[in-house]
Amino acid sequence: MSDTQMPPAHPFDDDKLKEECGVFGVVGVTDAANFVALGLHALQHRGQEAGGIVSHHPDHGFNSARRFGYVRDNFTSHKLMETLPGELAIGHVRYSTAGSKGQTQIRDVQPFFGEFSMGGAAIAHNGNITNADALRKELIDRGSIFQSSSDSECIIHLMARSLQRDIPSRMEDALRRVEGAFSVVAMTRTKLIGVRDPLGVRPLVLGKIADGYALSSETCALDIIGAEYVREIEPGEMVVITADKGVESLHPFRPQKSRFCIFEHVYFSRPDSIIGDRSVYETRRQIGVELARETPVEADLVCPVPDSGTPAAIGYAHESGIPYGMGIIRNQYMGRTFIEPTEQIRNMGVRLKLNVNRALIKGKRVVLVDDSVVRGTTSRKIKEMILDAGAAEVHFRIASPPTSWPCFYGVDTPQREKLLAATMSEDEMRDHLGVDSIKFISLDGLYRAVGESSGRDNTSPQYCDACFSGEYPIEPSDMLEKGFEMKAAE
Ligand code: SF4
Repeated sequence: MSDTQMPPAHPFDDDKLKEECGVFGVVGVTDAANFVALGLHALQHRGQEAGGIVSHHPDHGFNSARRFGYVRDNFTSHKLMETLPGELAIGHVRYSTAGSKGQTQIRDVQPFFGEFSMGGAAIAHNGNITNADALRKELIDRGSIFQSSSDSECIIHLMARSLQRDIPSRMEDALRRVEGAFSVVAMTRTKLIGVRDPLGVRPLVLGKIADGYALSSETCALDIIGAEYVREIEPGEMVVITADKGVESLHPFRPQKSRFCIFEHVYFSRPDSIIGDRSVYETRRQIGVELARETPVEADLVCPVPDSGTPAAIGYAHESGIPYGMGIIRNQYMGRTFIEPTEQIRNMGVRLKLNVNRALIKGKRVVLVDDSVVRGTTSRKIKEMILDAGAAEVHFRIASPPTSWPCFYGVDTPQREKLLAATMSEDEMRDHLGVDSIKFISLDGLYRAVGESSGRDNTSPQYCDACFSGEYPIEPSDMLEKGFEMKAAE
């Protein structure tokens, strides 16, 4: 495979929503790029298609490397890492971004770099710009020449057009024109910059390491470099960090009520991360507790669909009193480059990744706990495997409400008509999947599990939950232009 082509898509993992990016940056540590590589490795679950790092050294200027594939396969080579010297670096892992799905080129891999009259700047973006089509058209009409198909490049061109005299101010100008969800990590020659959109849809946290600082999509990536978690970057906050002066906090946007992505709690974030002051693992266990209270069933065994259903299954088993067991075992070494996805291998599908623990399952009424149902293709195959192994009954319990709307804020979702819950009722899904029952946690139950004891505030929701509710906190203007129909107001 040439280094300008995308690796083959994973043939067996197409039935989950996928976070599209993770961002990481450090300032004030020797060989910063090595720390960034470690951070990106810890964020690999947020994007496996490609990764990139930009560093700066006073004598060697800006340097960058972009590669397809896993961080561990690229950014561990001494030869490559020696080309990224300096005490300041940022990086990005990506799944794929809006506008270029299925045809990623190396030029689409972030961080993006721009040379301005006051010096260079590199930017890495997690999220999705919902007015990118309109911005891109306007910028091209005014003479901008785009290098990539990524919406994130708009930020660099908007910065180039700003009349401000320093890069953080130009970034403020640019981001005020941008609509959508963005957690940005950027750098100049001396500064590490972090920004979250006014609603704080996507995560970004601050860490402290020795005399330096780190910014990361999640706290699990701070742990891997030995950094201490300091706090979240607030919705609408910009932090400008230098090794000697520390963290300057700015608030360039009109304050708005936060609408953090509730799906980060359910699935995207790693269970060993902290969101706010809550452990993601503990929240997921609590989702299982709520799920057991809302959707009880007579059964002999509670099994997680590995790995993401595990904490919720533990919570479900604990609350229901039904024994917990590992009825499905995951093959941990099923990597993306395992084998070419021929038709024969495709048909083996989920069996290559998951296997049933027959001795445990046989003759039992089994509750299978999964984090979500997207197309339902994997759920159906798992049900077949469990029945083949001799289960007496199969009951699905799902740790999120029915996913019936697409996400436009940086998560890869199939078109609405491909989402099982958009076209079927719960009973229809039960019959379609051929199981004895399928039940989902309610939206209120999910809100209670993430710490909102009174459930969802329907007049002013505390989180973004658009993929469940159809209520989009930021108008998806490009998609409306393309004919997407929002839910009618009730
Ligand atoms: S639509 Fe769903 S996945 Fe997307 S940001 Fe909102 S809650 Fe998260």
